[in-house]
Amino acid sequence: MITTFVQNHAFFNDLTAFLTGQLLLPKDTAYEQVRHLWNGNVKTQPAAIMRCLTVQDVIHTVRWTRTHGLPLSVRDGGHDFAGRALSENGVVIDLSQMRAVTIDPDARTAHVQGGATAGDLMEAAQKYGLATTTGTISSVGMAGFTLGGGYSPLIGTYGLGADNLLSAQVVAANGQLVTANAEEHPNLLWGLRGGGGNFGVVVSLE
Ligand SMILES: Cc1cc2nc3c(=O)[nH]c(=O)nc-3n(C[C@H](O)[C@H](O)[C@H](O)COP(=O)(O)OP(=O)(O)OC[C@H]3O[C@@H](n4cnc5c(N)ncnc54)[C@H](O)[C@@H]3O)c2cc1C
Repeated sequence: MITTFVQNHAFFNDLTAFLTGQLLLPKDTAYEQVRHLWNGNVKTQPAAIMRCLTVQDVIHTVRWTRTHGLPLSVRDGGHDFAGRALSENGVVIDLSQMRAVTIDPDARTAHVQGGATAGDLMEAAQKYGLATTTGTISSVGMAGFTLGGGYSPLIGTYGLGADNLLSAQVVAANGQLVTANAEEHPNLLWGLRGGGGNFGVVVSLE
């Protein structure tokens, strides 16, 4: 059961004052749309959902949630069967409004925001005649897919989705934004390549 004190918008005033995104509480109409996952049997009830629009929104939410001692989870495409995108009585960072994709056709790389889906990436890449490892369903989140390993129809040629992760920007548990790649925090990159969503909030992937 969600405790009464966190059911009021006022409880979140010192968070929302710094956010460009939207706070959703159980009484708000859009709350259930975001709470509902691909596995409709998941009944987990977060205390609040933060629909982040910017990296700064994510940083503020991580710091605020830590300060208040609440559980935190991250929702991307919402396809995890176990419903790990949601935390009971906790705060959910919803990345569904952060879905931009940029393609560098010369380097043959893509930068995708942490909420982008396979469909977002495929649509952007195919304009350049490019394709990469994604799930078979367009609504699967690229971050959830990649962090979990990622089996793609192209696996025979290009390996796992995680093998194709070159770099990631991550908001760590202390609220700091770090880059993980071959030069910076290589151990973090190693963990992100298949270790799941436990190493921080991935706000963008290359
Ligand atoms: C219909 C369907 C088809 C599928 N097809 C495939 C397939 O072809 N190949 C394959 O390998 N898998 C497939 N899967 C499995 C899917 O890839 C995984 O369940 C994946 O974790 C879902 O990612 P998501 O972002 O959609 O889900 P979510 O439930 O939003 O996230 C999954 C996990 O990753 C964490 N997470 C998500 N985004 C971030 C982030 N930005 N930062 C930190 N943590 C994050 C979440 O907290 C959660 O723990 C499929 C699943 C379904 C339901």
